[in-house]
Amino acid sequence: MMLVRRTLPLLCLALLLTGLTSRRCSGQPAQAQPAPATTAVPAQPASTQAYTLPPDKLTKAITLSHIRLALEIVGSLWGLAVLWLLLSFRWAAELAAWTERLLRRRWMQGLLFFAVFIVVDTVAYLPFSLIGHYVNLVYGISVQGWLSWFGDHAKSLGIALVGTPVYLLFNWIVRVSPRRYWVWIWLVTLPLIVLSTFASPLLDPIFNKFEPLTKTHLALVARLEQVVARTGTKIPPERMFLMKASAKSNGLNAYVTGLGATKRFVMWDTATDRLPDDEVLFIFGHESGHYVLNHIPKQLAGSTAGSFFVLWACAGFAGWLMRRFGARWQLISPEGSTPLASRQGFLVLLFALSVAGLILQPAGNTFSRHFEHEADVYGQEAIHGLVADPQKTTVSAFNHLGEAWLEDPNPNAFVEFWTYSHPSVQNRANFALHYDPWVNGGHGRFFEK
Ligand SMILES: [Zn+2]
Repeated sequence: MMLVRRTLPLLCLALLLTGLTSRRCSGQPAQAQPAPATTAVPAQPASTQAYTLPPDKLTKAITLSHIRLALEIVGSLWGLAVLWLLLSFRWAAELAAWTERLLRRRWMQGLLFFAVFIVVDTVAYLPFSLIGHYVNLVYGISVQGWLSWFGDHAKSLGIALVGTPVYLLFNWIVRVSPRRYWVWIWLVTLPLIVLSTFASPLLDPIFNKFEPLTKTHLALVARLEQVVARTGTKIPPERMFLMKASAKSNGLNAYVTGLGATKRFVMWDTATDRLPDDEVLFIFGHESGHYVLNHIPKQLAGSTAGSFFVLWACAGFAGWLMRRFGARWQLISPEGSTPLASRQGFLVLLFALSVAGLILQPAGNTFSRHFEHEADVYGQEAIHGLVADPQKTTVSAFNHLGEAWLEDPNPNAFVEFWTYSHPSVQNRANFALHYDPWVNGGHGRFFEK
C-alpha cells in the first residue's frame, strides 16, 4: 500500500518473511482461515456473510481485486526480468566497467554502480506504480494528485539511495569471504532490521503529516486510555499520533510502529473522522494485541531463523547461476575472489534472493495471518465491557474497513493463501460475529473477564 518496494532486497527478504517494521492493519488482503473453536462458540454456518457490499461497490471490488492481483503477479515477475535483462544483455557488466573508468577508488565505483542500479530498478517499475495509482484514483481509494504522488516517489528514491552503502557492504562481504559470505550477511542483517524498525517512524513524516492524537481528539484518547488500562500496555497519550491521511487517501487504517524510544500508535484521520469511537477502540485493541502478544519480536526471531536457511539456499542457487551463465554475463572475479563478488555478480545474488522471496511469500503471509487473527481476537476481548456490544462493533468495523478499501467479499482461497498478509475481511468479520466467549459466564483467551 505504501511506496516501499525492493529498495533493499536483502533486508526485504527477511522482511518478506515477516511484514515487519510496522504492522499496518487495514482491511488489507488476506486468507481463508477457519475460525479456531473457542469455548461456547457455536459452529459457523458455511453460508455466513458478515461482510457485505452494496451491488455497485461489489462489482467494483471484484474488478479491483483482479487488477490488484494482476499488478502484483506481473510486477513481481517483471522485477525478476529486470535483473535478468541487466545481466544477460551485459548492461550490468558495462555499467561496472564504466564506473571503473570514471572513478579511481573502488568503493566509489561501487557506490555509483549500486546507485545507478537503484535508479534503473525504480524507473523500470514505475509503469506498475503509475497504473496502480491511476486505478486507485479511478476507484476513489486515493485522492492524491499526481504532482504529490511523483513527489512521494522521488522521496522514496532518495531514501533508497541513502541505503546504497548497505549494498556496498554486502558486496564487500562476498568479496572477502567468498565461501561463508551468506553467514556474515545473515549476521549483519539482524541489526540492520532492528535499526530500520527503529528508524521507520522517523522517516514517516517525510511522506505524511503527524500530530499528537490529543490535539484534536481528547475525548477519544480518554477512551483509548481505558483500553490501555485493561490491556496493561504502556502506551501513554504522547505515544499516540494522528496521521493526516485524508490528504491522500479514502482508506481507513491504523498501525503500530517503531521500537523502544520510537514505539508508537498511529491512527489515520480518515479512521477517527469516519468511524464511530467504539470501532476506533477495537482497532486500537487490535494494535495493542500486536504489542502485548510480542508479535514484532516473534516475527523478528522467526525471520532471523528462516533467513539463515534462505541465505544458505540462495548462495547455492547464485553459485549455480554463476557457473552456468557467468561467462555469458561477463562476471569477472575481483582479485582473489569469486565472480559473485563483482558488482554485476552481486545482481546474481539479488536475483536468487528475489526468486526466494517470491517462493516464500505464502510462508511469510501464513505467519502474518496467524498474528493478525490473534490480534483480532485480542482486540475484540480488549473492548469487552468498554463498548455495548463487542461483536456488533467489531463486525461493523470490518465492514467499514472493507468498504473503504473495496475489499472483495469472496476472494479466491488460493489467492488469499498466497498473497494476503491479513485474513480476508470476510473471514475476520465472520469470526467476530460468532466470537462470544463471555456467554454463560465464560471468558476470552487473553483476558480474565
Ligand atoms: Zn494487525
